Amino acid sequence: MEKYVVVIGGVLSGVGKGIATASIGKILNEYGYKTTGIKIDPYINYDAGTLRPTEHGEVWVTNDGGEIDQDLGSYERFLGIDIPKQNNITTGQVYKAIIDRERKGEYLGETVQFIPHIPNEIKDRIRTASKDYDITIIEIGGTVGDYENIPFLFAVKGMEREFGKENLLYVLITYMPIPSHIGEMKTKPTQQAIKLLQENGIIPDIILCRGKEPLDDVRRKKIETYANIKREFVISAPDIKIVYEVPINFERENLGQKILTKLNLKSKKEPNWEKWNSQLNNLKNPSTSSRIGMVGKYLDIGEFSLRDAYVSINEALVHAGATLGIKPKIEWIDSKEIEQQGTKMLENYDGIIIPGGFGTTGIEGKIKAIQYVRENKIPFLGLCLGMQLAAVEYARNVCKLKGAHSEEIDSNTQYPIITLLPSQQKAMRESLYGGTMRLGAYAAYIKPGTLVYKLYKKEGRIKEDTKKSLEPYRLGKLSQPQTEYIIERHRHRYELSPEFEKTLEDAGLIFSGHHHRLDGVKLAEFLELPEHPFFVGTQAHPEFRSRFLSPAPLFLGFLLAIKNNTK
Ligand code: GLN
Repeated sequence: MEKYVVVIGGVLSGVGKGIATASIGKILNEYGYKTTGIKIDPYINYDAGTLRPTEHGEVWVTNDGGEIDQDLGSYERFLGIDIPKQNNITTGQVYKAIIDRERKGEYLGETVQFIPHIPNEIKDRIRTASKDYDITIIEIGGTVGDYENIPFLFAVKGMEREFGKENLLYVLITYMPIPSHIGEMKTKPTQQAIKLLQENGIIPDIILCRGKEPLDDVRRKKIETYANIKREFVISAPDIKIVYEVPINFERENLGQKILTKLNLKSKKEPNWEKWNSQLNNLKNPSTSSRIGMVGKYLDIGEFSLRDAYVSINEALVHAGATLGIKPKIEWIDSKEIEQQGTKMLENYDGIIIPGGFGTTGIEGKIKAIQYVRENKIPFLGLCLGMQLAAVEYARNVCKLKGAHSEEIDSNTQYPIITLLPSQQKAMRESLYGGTMRLGAYAAYIKPGTLVYKLYKKEGRIKEDTKKSLEPYRLGKLSQPQTEYIIERHRHRYELSPEFEKTLEDAGLIFSGHHHRLDGVKLAEFLELPEHPFFVGTQAHPEFRSRFLSPAPLFLGFLLAIKNNTK
């Protein structure tokens, strides 16, 4: 029988439910259980693909091409596994599936109703996603008391009845505010959250108390009495700076054993946190720090939201930095300011990243930044749009193709270095935006001897071509003698035009890897410049495959180049 841990928020959102879910998964994994995570988002959107990242955080891309909630990214970073898109369940998906079925006449005249059809669909989706795992941690988005959460709470309550209480456990994550005029921690909001949960027939098994400070005895006692649970199940979870410390902190209160006991399970192995702790230790004690400029089109939304919108790049830098003993300090540079004030503002950065992006704003500023780092030999990493613009810059300033551009920005350019391939054009003509992107994991054959090859090789991320293993990665037939490939995730519409590859190559740019499409078209996935400390662009988003214990090769290469450069 598979087991479930349901994580529900009380009081307010944004208190680290996603990290807590990922941490619980990681802990149970250390006790020898195969765990995964499911995120339930009660919004009507089908997925996160069309949500504004500055409001909802980054759109996380899965191997199977899902555009889903960023919490799934935390689960992957902690658990070190690839999680498919079916693990993000939204209200929109649930209703759509039912209505589609109803339209096809599959209900045979039955009245389709909120109960039982909606909770049943939710349950089915949870079961499908948890099929190959021992324990599934289910995070319900929002907080208890939100109207839109009701069907999901109803569904998990139904699972409790069907599967038995020993197979499903509830964790309530609350927040204990310390109002400045009172100066002490208040438990009342938590009491109310417990009450609201109980109104849904749910009694929490464990309460994680988030707050600025640890929980004291008086408050623990209060919650114990109010929730009617033993005090050892009231866990203190004070603010900490480093999210990867959360599982370690939870384990100080023996959370893993407590969950196992409640689920009627025994530990299968002694947890071994050695690697995790050593990476954590590196993270806490860097030997140097470096200033990294992220050049993008930024709205005035404040640093916190920016961090959220680029969480995977941030984390990829943190992972690579920990391994190399570097503390990366990210600063946001608005490319529109470079357009107005020139590149002088880039002088004091140790490295520059141009992240992915859509639309036309601030593009010339980014191109100027690339020219500056290329000519001044400052380490540069171009991600997706960043790679596309690196090719445009090279075409304009080295190949002297005046006015070279990406068709996304200038559809009339004489030199469309970045283009919409015919297949993509067809998709754009025929449908709305959904479904027109190259999304998810694709394999790229890597050229031996290149920097990209060396970096992936060093991290053990190069695989050998065996037809079978390539299937899920949409790799076409192989027309090259090369057999070594890597896997990265994608989210874009435009590609580097195969027609210009030779011109760019003759002028010194190296294309270190290609995806081979079934129709024979080869798409450039990596570019690099020799005679430069680090100038690498990739059409992929390697930040989606960086894990705490297995940093992404390109981020390692980028930071290592910075370290060597600044010595
Ligand atoms: N806008 C570009 C494209 O669609 C790049 C997308 C990205 O950077 N993710 O191809």
